[in-house]
Order: sequence, then structure tokens, then C-alpha cells
Amino acid sequence: MSTVLGFDQIRLPAACETLRREVRAFIAEEVAAGTFTPDRPQYGDAHDRAFSRRIGAKGWIGMTWPKKYGGHERSFLERYVVTEEFRVVNAPVRLHFVADRQSGPILLKYAPEHIKLDILPRICRGELCFVIGMSEPGSGSDLFAAKTKATRTNDGWRINGTKIWTSNAPVADYMLAIFRTSPPTKEDRRHGLTQFLVDMKAPGIKVNPIYQMTGQHDFGEDVFDDAFVPDDHLLGEVDNAWKQATSELAYERSGPERILETFYVLAELVRALGPKPDLRSAEGVGRLVAQLHTLRRMSISVAGMLQAGKEPVVEASIVKDLATVWAQKLPGRVRDLSAFLEPEATNKPALEEQLAFATMVAPKLTIQGGTTEILRGIIARGLGLR
Ligand SMILES: Cc1cc2nc3c(=O)[nH]c(=O)nc-3n(C[C@H](O)[C@H](O)[C@H](O)COP(=O)(O)OP(=O)(O)OC[C@H]3O[C@@H](n4cnc5c(N)ncnc54)[C@H](O)[C@@H]3O)c2cc1C
Repeated sequence: MSTVLGFDQIRLPAACETLRREVRAFIAEEVAAGTFTPDRPQYGDAHDRAFSRRIGAKGWIGMTWPKKYGGHERSFLERYVVTEEFRVVNAPVRLHFVADRQSGPILLKYAPEHIKLDILPRICRGELCFVIGMSEPGSGSDLFAAKTKATRTNDGWRINGTKIWTSNAPVADYMLAIFRTSPPTKEDRRHGLTQFLVDMKAPGIKVNPIYQMTGQHDFGEDVFDDAFVPDDHLLGEVDNAWKQATSELAYERSGPERILETFYVLAELVRALGPKPDLRSAEGVGRLVAQLHTLRRMSISVAGMLQAGKEPVVEASIVKDLATVWAQKLPGRVRDLSAFLEPEATNKPALEEQLAFATMVAPKLTIQGGTTEILRGIIARGLGLR
């Protein structure tokens, strides 16, 4: 099936710039109070419950959701600006970020009313950490091979199996998980998966830490041993979760976080070069900034399409592919350009430290949220080429 591909020409409205100034002022206060140090990538990967609560109190979580559920009925473009400002300085937003970006919108669409009234306001207050339970040992790209089983009981479901590579698992409150409720059929291998809201503090769930190359353990393997999920935690249709999972990915794949994950090395290089860079460095930085600008326009366009109620799955996949390949190559390009730095550039040690960190982080960028190969498959299918 082919899709008409289009990036709407969207620019951020003037009102967004007022909001941007408010966010910058808030961030400056937090930095002055010692919450985090801008441009230190280690902070961006941190969970800070108190900081998330303060962001919630400002009205910057669940910004696009109905007021009835604690949201603020603002636009996706306004949310874009807030996300961008926090990401560009590596603020520690990981505690609430997944819930804000994709779990909340899924609950809004598929959860029963009393669950929405209970959980969504707590997300908006910055109180809850959500995680994504899709990957399993042996099924990452191929989500439809998931084996972790949900078996019906009188008043709910019993879960047995293992999820893996779960970001933020060690601090998770809830997971949105895809479990197998029936075998796939001959005609449709996507059949038989169902989405659930899982309380990660329930008995029968054990999270084993997985360490990153950087030494951080924000990752986990989640073992379900007869864990109980009540009936009202079922989301959407039984056996038919593949559609929900696919539309969730449009939220996950195209945001500014995809472009900005290693941005700090470019910012540090520009600081090191100072106001009068040599011609070669200026040209190198100019090229990178032009590419960044283009990616940002495309990412804003996807935010605008989400605002218009579209499901830009193919466009989001294109942004994720281009942005993550760019962000992955950025540390290498910055390292090359740093060869022209004056030996006495004062922030050279900081740049070296950031480059070392970014180099260890870079490989994951084209794996998490769907690998490059998978994205290109989706794009090709969307264009009617396969
Ligand atoms: C930092 C990070 C965070 C993550 N966070 C989460 C999370 O929170 N929740 C979660 O559920 N998962 C998470 N993941 C898991 C991630 O979604 C999977 O790693 C990813 O989907 C790839 O799956 P896999 O590791 O099993 O590799 P595989 O699917 O085995 O792929 C191995 C290689 O084969 C290629 N390949 C596979 N199938 C095809 C195909 N059909 N066509 C062409 N090439 C193909 C892939 O591109 C890849 O290069 C995270 C991963 C990382 C690195």
C-alpha cells in the first residue's frame, strides 16, 4: 500500500517564542539553583522526581491533553518548543518524558475513563515514570514475534515471560506492554497481540539492571512470573494491538530529542572556536548547522501534522532515520573540526570529555525506537516500493 508523502510547511507561531522565553527563564533558575549543569550529557540521562514535579507545576507535561485529565489543551508546536528547550541543555527530564511523549496519548485513546481520570493527572504533575514494553529476547525489530504471554483468568490476566532493553526500567512506575494473548493466524502474523497497562510495582515482576557502555544503568530486563494485570488495564482491542503500536511510533520517532541527543558536542565546539573561527572551522560548523536546521524543519513539520490530527508514520520514520544518522556521526565530525582548535582553547578538556561520552552513546541512536534498516523498510513500503 502506498502513502502520499508530504511534509507540511509549518513554522512555529510567534506565541511559541513567548513560551520559549518562559522555559529559558525557568531553566536558568534551575541551573542557578544547582539542579543540573547545562550541556553535561550525563544529566540528560538522569531521573529527577523533584525536577519533573516542578516542570509539571509549570504546566509543561501533558500540554496537548484535555484539561479534564490534568492537561493544558495547548498545541503540539508549543509542546515541541518545551521539549526542544529542555533537550538542548540536557536537562534531566527522563522521569516523565516517555509518559508525556507516548504513553499518555495511548491511554487517552484506549484506556477506560476511570483509569484516565486516575493516571493522566499524575503524569501531568510529573509524578509517574512510564516505560515501553515491546522488545523481548529474540524479538526486537520483529515485534510480532513477541512471546510474553497474557493468559485470561476470572478477573484479569496472568503474565509470564521477559521484556528486555526497557529504558528507565529501574525507576518505572508503569509499563505499556504488548503481550501475546493468542497465536498468530496463518493469514495474519500480526494477530494475537494485546496492549496492557502494567503496574511495575505489582508482585511477580522483577527488573534486572542492564549496564550501558557509559556505566549507566537506566536500562532493564523485566521478568514476569505470574504477574497479575486486572481487566480494566487492558488497552484497546484484544489480539489487535499492532495498529496501536504502529501509531504510537509516530509520537516516538520524530521529536527534537532525536536530533539533539549529541548536540552538546557541537555547542561546545562553537564555544571553543570563539567569535572569530578560522575559515575552515567556520565552514565546517556552518555545514553542520545547515543540516541541523533542515532536520529541525522536518521535525517541526511532523509536530504540525500531529497537531492537525494526521498520523505521519512515514514522515516520522524519515525524520528518525535522517536525524539519528546525523546525530550519530556528529561526534566524529566535531572531533575532526576540533583538530583546528588553538591549543590554549579553555574548554578543550570539557569538549574532550563530552566527545568521549557522545562516542559511547552514538551507536544506540540508530537502534532505539526502530533500527535504520527497519525504518527504511517502512519508508519503502509507504512509498509503494515494496
Ligand atoms: C538505548 C536503547 C533503548 C531502548 N529502549 C527500549 C524500550 O524502552 N522498550 C523496548 O521495548 N525496547 C527498547 N529498545 C530495544 C530496541 O527497540 C531494539 O533493540 C530494536 O528494535 C532492535 O531489536 P533487536 O535488538 O532485537 O535487534 P534485531 O531485531 O535482532 O536486529 C538486528 C539487526 O538486524 C536488522 N534487521 C532486523 N530485521 C530486519 C529486517 N526485516 N530488514 C532489514 N534488517 C533487519 C536490524 O536493523 C539490526 O541491524 C531499546 C534499544 C536501545 C539500544
